[in-house]
Amino acid sequence: MRALKFNGENICPSKLVCLIVNYHAHGVELKHAIPEMPLWFLKPPQSIIGDNEDIILPDMSKSIHHEVELAVVIGKEGTNISKEEALDYVLGYTILLDITARDLQDKYIKEGRPWSIAKGFDTFAPIKLDIVPRENIKNPNDLDIKLTINGEVRQSSNTKNMIFSVEETISAISKITTLEKGDIIATGTPEGVGEIHVGDRLVAEIESIGVLTAGVRK
Ligand code: MG
Repeated sequence: MRALKFNGENICPSKLVCLIVNYHAHGVELKHAIPEMPLWFLKPPQSIIGDNEDIILPDMSKSIHHEVELAVVIGKEGTNISKEEALDYVLGYTILLDITARDLQDKYIKEGRPWSIAKGFDTFAPIKLDIVPRENIKNPNDLDIKLTINGEVRQSSNTKNMIFSVEETISAISKITTLEKGDIIATGTPEGVGEIHVGDRLVAEIESIGVLTAGVRK
């Protein structure tokens, strides 16, 4: 498993928690219902790759999508965290691509089956491994977020458009599972998701956090 880095320290997440539909316009484009509380799935931490590495397209899928997301990295163990205290539990922030086999996800949703497979392939979680300390980010709920592919803008929004704030998300998740140091929360993707193909160059950017690049191969 790939480790995150914070001030020279290696940090290994015990889990990668990913929100579903946390931007209204993304729910509309996928025709998915808007959730009334933060809903999420787990991605295996083994799916993590670092900056400038390649997403490997699996043979099982014919439609792999990009989803650019703000990622929150937890700094200390917490259960039943209140919204007011939530940011005290944040180590820092980074950028994550929640790569998704959309055709498999659609098929399993239709069949009423779990869709972990659609999200869980190796290399399906490119992350900027260098975490930006929380002190450097004035307000995580107001950051421009963008993804370009081969120089063309595909997703462009601001985290103020999230349905659930970072504080609400941390609090809600911690009521179900204990958050531990290094755990990653991917806060959902804005609208504009679409397919990636062999040879594409993805550049994800979040204001005040930096840039994450990824290639695509078979
Ligand atoms: Mg996502």
